[in-house]
Amino acid sequence: MVDPLEEDTHAPYLPSIERARGEGVTAQRKVFGIPWWSVDLLSATPDEVEPLAIVIVEARIQRRVTELKDVQLTARLLDQLATAAPPEPTEFTDARTTYLLERSDISPCVACEGRPGEIVCTACAGTGRVDVTDSEGNAVMVACYLCKGHRYITCPTCEGAGHAHWARLMQVEDSAPELRYAYVPSMVDALDLAVGELFDALPDALPSCLRFDPTPRKHESAYRGEVRQMDRGFHGHGFGDALERAMLGIEALRGPGDVVHQELAAYAWPLLWLRYGSVARRAEVGLIISPADQRHRALVVPGT
Ligand SMILES: [Zn+2]
Ligand SMILES: [Zn+2]
Repeated sequence: MVDPLEEDTHAPYLPSIERARGEGVTAQRKVFGIPWWSVDLLSATPDEVEPLAIVIVEARIQRRVTELKDVQLTARLLDQLATAAPPEPTEFTDARTTYLLERSDISPCVACEGRPGEIVCTACAGTGRVDVTDSEGNAVMVACYLCKGHRYITCPTCEGAGHAHWARLMQVEDSAPELRYAYVPSMVDALDLAVGELFDALPDALPSCLRFDPTPRKHESAYRGEVRQMDRGFHGHGFGDALERAMLGIEALRGPGDVVHQELAAYAWPLLWLRYGSVARRAEVGLIISPADQRHRALVVPGT
């Protein structure tokens, strides 16, 4: 059931051949490669008309990913750590924090076992020397800049003490990925590309009359619901494979971890896929209301 008022508001976004002609729009198709000979496809009757709709997704997700880590740390570093989880963000924000869950008594450092307080130099791999290029471009060996030829450096885990605390940490990564993208239903490659280009730069605000709910209906099972949603379309315009791809895009945006909060809007942008087989050889036309100026646009590609 369609609310008559709602029908009124989205009506200007439903493309029609008659209104396109009224706006003076043409779909010129060259005939036999002769430069001065072309026909206007919109003045002929298409062999097939398929009403489709682009799915535009605006999504912002606040997610939190947590990871447990067991590490050895010095008392000095442990004392600097928070001991409680950071509050869940109420805004969209990116942040990385680590807090302490548990600490144990001091024990021998596992990083510098066998030579307490020192580890093999990470810059020279324990040779005490490194390769450098001199002013004449020759490779020469010099004493290591990090260990000064000593071959060992102070153990960073225990800061040279030879012992440290085992600690269980929770790493918290808050991130707010965004998605603003137009999913064009698959027609033929050249037409998909041409239509997609119109939506490369999306308008700042999309018309609310084109909004729809992309989630499956509650009373249907998830899988069957999704299939039916795709069949339902937008005022007679099917989504083709665009809705499924849009849902996958949102799923990928969610990623791992928990969704703390989100903003999600989906818009259907109708188009007509016109196929001509008899006029001036084969041609495919996408007839659409341009998001840039709200006027009809006919995109013509040679048929296959
Ligand atoms: Zn070194
Ligand atoms: Zn150590």
